[in-house]
Amino acid sequence: MLNQNQISSANIMVVGCGALGNEVLKNLVLMGVTHITVVDFDIVETGNLSRSILFTKADAEQRRLKIDVVAERLKQLNPDIDMTTICGDIAYNVGLGLIKQMDVIIGCVDSRWARFCINRLAMRAGKPWVDGGIDGLEGTARVFMPGKNCYACNLGPEGLKDLARRMPCSGIIRRQEQAGSAPTTSIVASVIGAIQVQEALKLIQPEFGTSLCGRMFYYEGQHMEVHTAQYEAYDDDCAEHECWHPISHTKADVDTCVQQALHIWEQELGADEVELCLANDCFVDYVSRRDNDERTMVMCPGHKVEEMVEHNNTLCGLSSAALYQNEYKHITAAFPYPDLTLQQLGIPSNDVVHVVANGKDYYLALSK
Ligand SMILES: [Zn+2]
Repeated sequence: MLNQNQISSANIMVVGCGALGNEVLKNLVLMGVTHITVVDFDIVETGNLSRSILFTKADAEQRRLKIDVVAERLKQLNPDIDMTTICGDIAYNVGLGLIKQMDVIIGCVDSRWARFCINRLAMRAGKPWVDGGIDGLEGTARVFMPGKNCYACNLGPEGLKDLARRMPCSGIIRRQEQAGSAPTTSIVASVIGAIQVQEALKLIQPEFGTSLCGRMFYYEGQHMEVHTAQYEAYDDDCAEHECWHPISHTKADVDTCVQQALHIWEQELGADEVELCLANDCFVDYVSRRDNDERTMVMCPGHKVEEMVEHNNTLCGLSSAALYQNEYKHITAAFPYPDLTLQQLGIPSNDVVHVVANGKDYYLALSK
């Protein structure tokens, strides 16, 4: 029997509000979960409607954000739920401080890269996470727990190659549609989404049943095959297992400028010199010369460079015309832009930063 108090006091994060995310969220609310955080940056499109219970045609026509729509619909199912929505990318926009507050993270994403990022955050925060994947009439579910098994350790050579290309699986689905084979269906999303929620509840309340952790659940609808297989690789040398512990608090927040933050940390940690290690991204500056010999400079988090070049006409052709490019992973007093805020470096709010002082690692939770 489920302990309803335990379930309703749990904090669960759902990453991705697509077909799987819809099923997972619906089940969470029906099972009595009340504290839910959702992360997604997409808008509702007509193509989503055939497999997403929470979206309507009007949402697609109004191009509403998926996070806003799911929050509204789930509140209709249970007006007492407490929803937090984050419009962003799990790789760059979710602070570790928020992940730390979660009991379980449920991944409803469609790329190896996004899974890799969830795994890294979960490991750093010491939290379990439940993965789901659907493809045509096939689906899988897996549970990862720090100290027991790890998504990165279970990626084979193919997986690692794919990760390097950061290819979202939607590309695979598009190719399948063109080739006439079945895309994702609501049926497989229902099966896998249900298993994910069942496993998430076991993580909150272990008496509920035996966890899938260490095995993979596999479902294939066409020939009706269902089985579990061992899935427990955990390599002691894996760089992804780094648990950020202990975490202490700092006065600095995302609006603090670099110079000031370094100064605060020198004082707080009793060091003459400190170094901020950008853990998820690098900071990049580009200097380019256009036809009239005018120099254009761009400074931004590494993952934003392509977007900046694409969307800003004045920077057209920047990447090819770049005179030089610097990437900063480690920020010290020598960083040339001391007036930029931590947010401008790409650090999300409610994050934990990795600071090295006197040769020692410190993990500092930013003030809110
Ligand atoms: Zn690993």
